Amino acid sequence: MAVIKAVLLMLILGGVLGMVLGIAGEKFYVEPDTRVDDVLAMLPGYNCGGCGNPGCSGMAEKLVSGESKIEQCRPCKPDVKEKIKQYLAEHSGE
Ligand code: SF4
Repeated sequence: MAVIKAVLLMLILGGVLGMVLGIAGEKFYVEPDTRVDDVLAMLPGYNCGGCGNPGCSGMAEKLVSGESKIEQCRPCKPDVKEKIKQYLAEHSGE
């Protein structure tokens, strides 16, 4: 009888906690900034850290936030740099 009570209690607890997590997940959901992924796709992807960031994803985040300049990425080719600058100019207000 004690085992059945324990199993029922665990099922109820699991259900309640699952509901709380589901509600919290919807309430606190943050829309991801797709610009970071777009810029990351244009960067060379060497993850060399030459730009002072831990990798290209960190650089992409800082480029989008305006904390870094694309000139900091030396491996990036000039035409790609222009492409990234143009993309950021076109999507600055999002
Ligand atoms: S310098 Fe360029 S290639 Fe290297 S980590 Fe930074 S963004 Fe990536």
